Amino acid sequence: MAVHRASAPLDLASLFGEYPFLPGAESLLHDPSWTVRALLEDPAYASARSLGRARILAAADDPRAVRNVAEFAGAPPDLRYLSFLFARLVLACATTPAALRRWAVAESKRASSRLETLRGTEQSAEIEAVAERLQAPLRSGPDGMEVGLVEYVRLATPIREADFRLVRQDLRAGVVVVRPKRAARLLEEAIRRTLAEPVAVNAEVVALVRSRESELLADVAARMPLPTARAAAGGGTLRPELFPPCIRKMRRTLQKGENLSHAGRFALAAFLHRVGADTETIVDSYRGAPDFDESITRYQVEHITQRDGGVGYEPPECETLRSHGLCARDGDPTADDPKDRERDPRCFDERMRHPLMYYRWRGGSVVERRDAPPVTSPGVGPGTPRPPGRSPSTGPR
Ligand code: SF4
Repeated sequence: MAVHRASAPLDLASLFGEYPFLPGAESLLHDPSWTVRALLEDPAYASARSLGRARILAAADDPRAVRNVAEFAGAPPDLRYLSFLFARLVLACATTPAALRRWAVAESKRASSRLETLRGTEQSAEIEAVAERLQAPLRSGPDGMEVGLVEYVRLATPIREADFRLVRQDLRAGVVVVRPKRAARLLEEAIRRTLAEPVAVNAEVVALVRSRESELLADVAARMPLPTARAAAGGGTLRPELFPPCIRKMRRTLQKGENLSHAGRFALAAFLHRVGADTETIVDSYRGAPDFDESITRYQVEHITQRDGGVGYEPPECETLRSHGLCARDGDPTADDPKDRERDPRCFDERMRHPLMYYRWRGGSVVERRDAPPVTSPGVGPGTPRPPGRSPSTGPR
């Protein structure tokens, strides 16, 4: 992780260079002839494009590690800003919505990483400067950083660390007082939400980006994590090509950035856990959801998979999935792959009653439950845990 050291308050240009997502950062552009097309094509902007690509690829590899971007060293604020613009523009045109969300996590962590390593008044002043421009509800107070109760709950809800629970906060007359380090973490959440929203781009620009940056976009898509088996799953290999039609369709739905029902989200997480996927793989499956929220998804996935000491919830049976319109045995006419468009005869075998059975029949390995209970699927009715991927502000969970 990059370690930042700053010894003096940032001037405005440097502030915008460090936090290029702030309103006002466009003042760094000195060339009045600047256009989106020029940023994408003009040799004068080659350095900005190169740095922008580095930003994107670092995030694609691992958004949580905040890999240091070597190209940042010595880059002036205007170049940093242009590279940020380039990255945001390209990711708005990517066919994999997960790439934008991973990048939003990486950029917000980069910002909070810098804020957390500052000290004293310098730290408070910089947090306040960023928060104010971002219109995030954090202000300096006599005893620390202050945030209104409602805003605190909104920002802290997705953060899982116990130290952020409201009962542990210093609450004074409707205001929560936090130390700067904690304020930086709250601000990270506000930044991530801002960046995870795709910018509006017209069809002409989308076509231009996709043609000029096709190699980069293909590289990003290839770097999106492949399903990974967790170590405790007994060493079996995940084989997505053997997943049943229903699960394959659920994954495609999310990858296309479309909404998947409550029941489908639950079934997908429970299924992936039982075939040995690790938490990161399961969380990544939801990155394409239109209402994806990193922290909340992580929390909900863990809730589904960690029940009974890691046994997890049993995925719903075929009959339950059929009753929710999630069975895809007749084929999916919208699928790109011809195989997915076809009817699957295995699913019409009278013995077929569970997606895990399908996977096992085809040679996939399923993590057996230690207690070997009868199938006790909680179904998808009352009592079903919250499905992953939904933010609290968007519909039922
Ligand atoms: S029959 Fe069962 S395994 Fe096959 S698609 Fe339908 S729900 Fe899935």
